[in-house]
Amino acid sequence: MASYDVIIVGSGPSGAAAALALSRRQSKRVLVLDEGQVEENHFNFPSLTSALDARTMTSVSALLGPKFEAIDQLEGEAWLHPKLTAAAARHVLRGRPFSVLNSRGVEIFKSNCSHALGGMSNAWGGQLLRYTNRDVQNIDWPFEQNIFSSAYDALERHIGISGVVDDASDLSGGGEIASKPLDMVPSAALLLDRYSRRAARFCPSPIYLGRARLAVNGGGSLLSVDAHSLGETEFLETNQPGLYTAQKTITQLVSERKISYRAGSSVIDWKENEDSVAVRYFDSRSGEKCEIVGKNLFLACGAMQSAALVAVSLKKDSITVPFVDHSPVLLPLWVLGALPIVPDKSYPIQLIGGLRAQRDFFSIYYPGGMFWSSLMRDLPCSYRFGARTISNILRRLLVAQIWYPSAAGCSSSLKIDKHGGMIIREHEARTAPPLARHVYEFAKLGAVTVPALSKMTPTGWGFHHAGTLPSRPHPGELETHLDGRLWNSRRVRVIDASVFPVLPAKNHSLTMMANAYRIASELQL
Ligand SMILES: Cc1cc2nc3c(=O)[nH]c(=O)nc-3n(C[C@H](O)[C@H](O)[C@H](O)COP(=O)(O)OP(=O)(O)OC[C@H]3O[C@@H](n4cnc5c(N)ncnc54)[C@H](O)[C@@H]3O)c2cc1C
Repeated sequence: MASYDVIIVGSGPSGAAAALALSRRQSKRVLVLDEGQVEENHFNFPSLTSALDARTMTSVSALLGPKFEAIDQLEGEAWLHPKLTAAAARHVLRGRPFSVLNSRGVEIFKSNCSHALGGMSNAWGGQLLRYTNRDVQNIDWPFEQNIFSSAYDALERHIGISGVVDDASDLSGGGEIASKPLDMVPSAALLLDRYSRRAARFCPSPIYLGRARLAVNGGGSLLSVDAHSLGETEFLETNQPGLYTAQKTITQLVSERKISYRAGSSVIDWKENEDSVAVRYFDSRSGEKCEIVGKNLFLACGAMQSAALVAVSLKKDSITVPFVDHSPVLLPLWVLGALPIVPDKSYPIQLIGGLRAQRDFFSIYYPGGMFWSSLMRDLPCSYRFGARTISNILRRLLVAQIWYPSAAGCSSSLKIDKHGGMIIREHEARTAPPLARHVYEFAKLGAVTVPALSKMTPTGWGFHHAGTLPSRPHPGELETHLDGRLWNSRRVRVIDASVFPVLPAKNHSLTMMANAYRIASELQL
């Protein structure tokens, strides 16, 4: 007899959203397994002394943050995303290792999948946007857009999203706003002010620009965000009070006794029977292999790790599946006339926008904390002089992170061997997108840049991983039904972004959560 109605593997945003939906149905027995553990949220300083040796500092905590969270790159991964070199976020990346090869077969990048209670959302920006018709038209999108509406509503209410109704509302998909947006840094405020004046004169403006939609819990809790005084708070310190992460949903549901949660449980494989699924996992606390039986199994391990579990359960030597992402282009912006102030407290994602005539999307970041901590250590000068120099640079600097829809078809693939080893391979050389129009529109707002300063990021770098087990109305091998079921299964469903065959030019987590919520709400039990 099955012990649980649903076993969910993975406690990131997709697993948490499904757990939430199931908790709202009458007396369902739900178990969430995750190989990550809460107590891993700490940071060891392998070479703190050597990192600090070369500096004479007046205030260590001003440089490193109150918890030394800004000592990044101590472990030396040259290609790793700077957000994840932040010490306090490192525990997120202890899952399966993977490497990325370019179209010439040369390794360009190495990293690890997520491994944490709350998954990657423990280290995220929390920008949560709806997909709109504009996002999904003319792409290989299998879902009717309106099937997500009620899930979007329910999740936005649960999470609490900050923002404001403005020009960018069309772009962000509207939705429920729980609290006012966070204060902007002066350079971003100036940019938005100039935009608003121009937009009032030229209607409609060729670009959208507006406030970000961020998963910061509304009301009073916002005030208790312990911001790193130099910005970039969320990437440098995990589990902050005001920032929503999936861990918060899981913790809440466990405390209300609506679900069971087992940390340190690494699922190995499963066997599907007529009326149940037997799931084998390794329990890191007892050091033993265990088995548990559920009526249904939901895979929510992230696009790569869910596909790896499918590969291992198939017992083939290796499988190759599509791999989709849309690594952003980074374009620095120099805001002329910005006030001579480095913000005391800030948040990285300041503004969002897009060109009206294109299907791109950009987030404008204040890169303060990240630059500060990285640059300070390398400046061959005193702390005081370095601080003044960096302040002068930072007060005008913003970075536009520009996304385009992921390439149609399969421009990259993921090969997984029987031990779960993973290699992403680009099949086509990536070419830099034209940025002339962006440069022109930003220049009209007094933000100067040149395309030569832009940086194309490698495949797999931007955390928007998807498409490994794509959803189809009539799925073939290694594909999924629209209700998440694997092509050959009645009881095993994939509920993370593996099922999205393409990605519109936007943060995808809210839609991924909405899909997981929908699947869990519609499950026949
Ligand atoms: C720095 C950063 C900024 C980001 N900013 C944004 C943003 O602003 N907006 C946005 O939409 N997205 C953002 N993202 C992306 C977002 O975090 C991911 O899209 C999201 O976390 C994916 O959720 P998931 O549930 O699919 O998987 P994950 O979050 O990867 O969670 C998977 C979970 O499964 C567990 N697991 C894996 N394999 C097993 C196994 N075999 N057994 C048991 N457990 C297992 C892992 O431990 C992990 O907890 C950001 C990510 C990062 C790192």
